[in-house]
Amino acid sequence: MSTTVAFLGLGHMGGPMAANLVRAGYQVVAFDPVPAAQEQARTDGATVVDTAALAVEKAEIVFTMLPSGRIVLDVYREALPAAAPGTLFVDCSTIDVADAVQAAELAVAAGHRALDAPVSGGVGGATAGTLTFMVGGSDTDFAAALPPLEAMGGKVVHCGGTGVGQAAKICNNMMLGISMIGLSEAIVLGEKLGLSHDKFFDVVSTASGQCWALTTNCPVPGPVPTSPANNDYQPGFATGLMNKDLGLASNALRTNGVDAQLGLLATEIYQRFAEQAAHRDFSAIITDIRTRSEQEPA
Ligand code: NAD
Repeated sequence: MSTTVAFLGLGHMGGPMAANLVRAGYQVVAFDPVPAAQEQARTDGATVVDTAALAVEKAEIVFTMLPSGRIVLDVYREALPAAAPGTLFVDCSTIDVADAVQAAELAVAAGHRALDAPVSGGVGGATAGTLTFMVGGSDTDFAAALPPLEAMGGKVVHCGGTGVGQAAKICNNMMLGISMIGLSEAIVLGEKLGLSHDKFFDVVSTASGQCWALTTNCPVPGPVPTSPANNDYQPGFATGLMNKDLGLASNALRTNGVDAQLGLLATEIYQRFAEQAAHRDFSAIITDIRTRSEQEPA
């Protein structure tokens, strides 16, 4: 008999992730309050029910893919009492480390088990089943969640105990935000000094400034034809999501007393940019740097 899993949150990411579980042979019982998401999940072969509590009743594993820590905690409070004892709750949302720890504590206090398992790879990775999962929790619970995670992902890393999956996610994205800003500043400086984008790419892509922001998500059109800059900065990875992740990183930096001046500055820079361009790819930050560089020096 196939394993029954619940899936709560069928948005841009959760919808295709749930579809991949169905494709891998899992019985998926799903809930999302949005009718269009419910309809898509039905088409994809999930059983859609009216509440989170109904969805988890017969599930061995419960996946959540939700917008925020507050919503994850609300959904846990509703679903935990309805689940059979020992159910494994796996939260794939990107949320504060502190909220991830609290969610796991609520699950354990209710007689269940819990993992945090945020992802990178975006909607493309969710659809193709090639996400990277960064998992926090016990060895036993990790082993139990591995088969369905592998049905949705290309790489699954057990990062450590509870909350450490979220830690890996925000550390990576803080570096990405900082490196995209640094790269964009260097390209704009090169423009002012007469260095073409092609020559910049030719040199830096194999020199010590080489980074993913340049070689995969190049913020100017041309050198990497698949980067969002070639498509008017359609995401890709939206500025609004980078802003969210940097906010989570900043919370963790402050809570843990880390002297991360660049992490906090990157957060401020993306927060300001998100107010005007939340839906553009985060590499569009170069357009903001260029505009601000055209203003007269103070
Ligand atoms: P989304 O807004 O498209 O989807 C969230 C879904 O949760 C929506 O369909 C919403 O109706 C549903 N929801 C809200 N309240 C609910 C409740 N009480 N019960 C059940 N469902 C509920 O967001 P998304 O892009 O799918 O992102 C989900 C999570 O994944 C976020 O934490 C995000 O930061 C993270 N993430 C997103 C990406 C990306 O590229 N979109 C990449 C990596 C991580």
